[in-house]
Amino acid sequence: MKQILLGLISVGFSFIVQAGIKEDVTYLASDKLNGRVTGTAENLEVQNWLIQRLKELKIRPAGNTAKTSFQYPFANSYDFKTQEKIHGTNIMGIVYPRKNWTEEKPHLLIGAHYDHIATCWKKFDAEDSICNGAADNAAAVAVVLSVAQNLADSIQSPVALAFWDGEESGLLGSDAFLKEPSFDLSQLNAYINLDIIGLNLYAGLENHHMIIGSETGGAKLEKLVKEMADQESSKVTYHRLSYAFGHGRSDMSSFIRHGLNVPLLFFSDGDGPVYHSSSDEVKNINFDKVSSIAEVIRKLSIQLSKMSASEFEYRQPTIFIDKGTFLQIVLTKIFGTNHMLKTGFPVPTYSDLDVVMELYEKAIQNAERNKLKPESVKKLTDLLNSMKEIKAKGNKKLFGMDNYNLLKAAAIFTATTRELTFVP
Ligand SMILES: [Zn+2]
Repeated sequence: MKQILLGLISVGFSFIVQAGIKEDVTYLASDKLNGRVTGTAENLEVQNWLIQRLKELKIRPAGNTAKTSFQYPFANSYDFKTQEKIHGTNIMGIVYPRKNWTEEKPHLLIGAHYDHIATCWKKFDAEDSICNGAADNAAAVAVVLSVAQNLADSIQSPVALAFWDGEESGLLGSDAFLKEPSFDLSQLNAYINLDIIGLNLYAGLENHHMIIGSETGGAKLEKLVKEMADQESSKVTYHRLSYAFGHGRSDMSSFIRHGLNVPLLFFSDGDGPVYHSSSDEVKNINFDKVSSIAEVIRKLSIQLSKMSASEFEYRQPTIFIDKGTFLQIVLTKIFGTNHMLKTGFPVPTYSDLDVVMELYEKAIQNAERNKLKPESVKKLTDLLNSMKEIKAKGNKKLFGMDNYNLLKAAAIFTATTRELTFVP
């Protein structure tokens, strides 16, 4: 009976959590906020809404060194596409443990950008031109707020929160903050980044999610992430990939750029066909998956806050491909002229091979549902075979061209998901 009751309570709890997340995503991705574009009146409205929410959650301001404001304004950065001067505002806060109040420095930072884009890259519906950014990145903001709720009761050291602005213009908000932080980052165990949450990459890949970069905290962080993800594995399959698969794609890359030596975790569903399209809307969000991701991050945050400061042995990603190589050209074609990709690309790990192969196999098995053209199926099949060849060598390590071929396969996978003509 007790077991059944506990079960019912936990089902009820996750239902309430999911309802709160859905409400926040519905607001943030509404047409009236018009993409929450940096420097606009709608972006300012979101800032005020975030500040109100943080105050309600009794979270302390951390946008300035005096800890009197949530806002961290930045300027004098230049949009990498338009070269225009950008003025933006990050929203920063710190959750302190309710019991054992401590003035200790944060052991964890969790961040998600709240800005989105003005002009969509793609439309599925000719009538609709608003880029709502529900998965990118309204759902991520909603997850951070949901994790922050009641966190003070379970953590043992402070946890900092960042809602970055100017991400879509080239990771500008996180770049400005890491150049000149408003609080001490020296005791961080990890930075957790969320970007693109709640999408399905392919039909057949529903309830799959990627956690990227745990190897940057060594075997100890990898083990912890695996344990926390395994507890949720009945709801979502969590694939763990190395930092190479997130490099330059979101705000955690600013940590590498500024040499902060902090282990990085990046939660993402990858791009998929609705990426930067007018169909990145609430109706296309998989909320069951979103609430499972929130649960993994909540559990991880509690564990990380209980560990002593700078607990993990930081492993810096090795940058191996210089600009101007063929892969660089392919990646630039897919991801745009992101400045992080121009400077090089990190080496993947051997375990990435199994994950990429599994994603390929699922996509090929569901080729019909995905309306893949025969030439796309052939391309994916050829690349899968090239990965099987790497695996057959049995080296348990990737050498030279193996790195290159694996990254190329992942880039082409992403490009194929973007070209799908429907929302999976
Ligand atoms: Zn994003």
